[in-house]
Amino acid sequence: MLTGGCFCGAIRYEISKPVLDTTICHCVDCRRAAGAPMVAWMTVARDALRFVSGEPARYESNPAVLRQFCANCGTHLTWESDDLPDTIDVSIGSLDAPEQVAPKDHTWTSQQLAWLHVNDELPKYPAAEATGAPD
Ligand SMILES: [Zn+2]
Ligand SMILES: [Zn+2]
Repeated sequence: MLTGGCFCGAIRYEISKPVLDTTICHCVDCRRAAGAPMVAWMTVARDALRFVSGEPARYESNPAVLRQFCANCGTHLTWESDDLPDTIDVSIGSLDAPEQVAPKDHTWTSQQLAWLHVNDELPKYPAAEATGAPD
């Protein structure tokens, strides 16, 4: 069972099923939503994620995409798309133990910041990976 929550502690969640996918997303929408140069995500089944404390605020970052975050402290928690109705992405940085879930690739590197130099050996994709990644 993976557990996590927001910075202030108002929102807590549990994930009851295995992680299906992971990525570090460099897209401009994730960047602006998180206020960070890139965001690490893990994909899980929607019915695996349960909020056990607090209710996240919601923001439609485009007509098909919903992002949830803590209205009190601003921690970016989830990303979901109408195009991927069975899964939801959860920010790895909001996990209690983020070391447990290592991203396996980089996506949307076509939008990566020029001053950010990533030297790891992970695959890098200019847009979303075929299996569906945050955009
Ligand atoms: Zn919070
Ligand atoms: Zn993104």
